[in-house]
Amino acid sequence: MIVVVCGPGGVGKGTVVARLVAADPRLWLSRSWTTRSQRPGEPDDAYTYVDRPTFEARIAEGGFLEHAEFLGNLYGTPWPDAGDERDIVLEIDVQGAEQVIERVPPADRLFILLEPPSPEVQAERLRGRGDPPEQAEERIRVAQGEIDRARQLDAIRIVNDDLDRTVDEVERLIAEARAARG
Ligand code: 5GP
Repeated sequence: MIVVVCGPGGVGKGTVVARLVAADPRLWLSRSWTTRSQRPGEPDDAYTYVDRPTFEARIAEGGFLEHAEFLGNLYGTPWPDAGDERDIVLEIDVQGAEQVIERVPPADRLFILLEPPSPEVQAERLRGRGDPPEQAEERIRVAQGEIDRARQLDAIRIVNDDLDRTVDEVERLIAEARAARG
């Protein structure tokens, strides 16, 4: 099964996903490729950092389950190789989620949309992240459009106003989906 955690920037996807994966060895977190530069303080394994020609060559080979351009940088999920025993977790933007929906049948995916408790909380998180200020403001500008677009998709919506509660809720949904798959 593929667990897609999607939502606008600043909603806390990364934190939620890190907690899920740390608590459940049956979850396998996909590492995305990006052409974005590493942020100060960002771990070396947060992404596979590549230049644009390398990324584009991999697109041409059909090497991504999905990929998208976000604020001038490319991001993509290499075709996952998690083995049969583990469920795959993707933390991706809304455009990527749309592609996963087209390619992965409903029975094989659990699609979760995290929403911020308020635009103010979201803006605060985006400003506190170490991006240059003008980039943070650009991210804040696109975030509302991302939510509107994501709400058109057939996702389970969770407002991330309390980290523990959000993680519990996603764990419950994963357990339910596993049980349904038998
Ligand atoms: P950031 O630059 O803040 O790390 O990521 C920007 C956006 O791209 C976030 O919404 C993040 O979830 C998303 N993202 C990260 N990896 C991928 C990926 O592999 N595919 C897609 N479509 N989006 C991604």
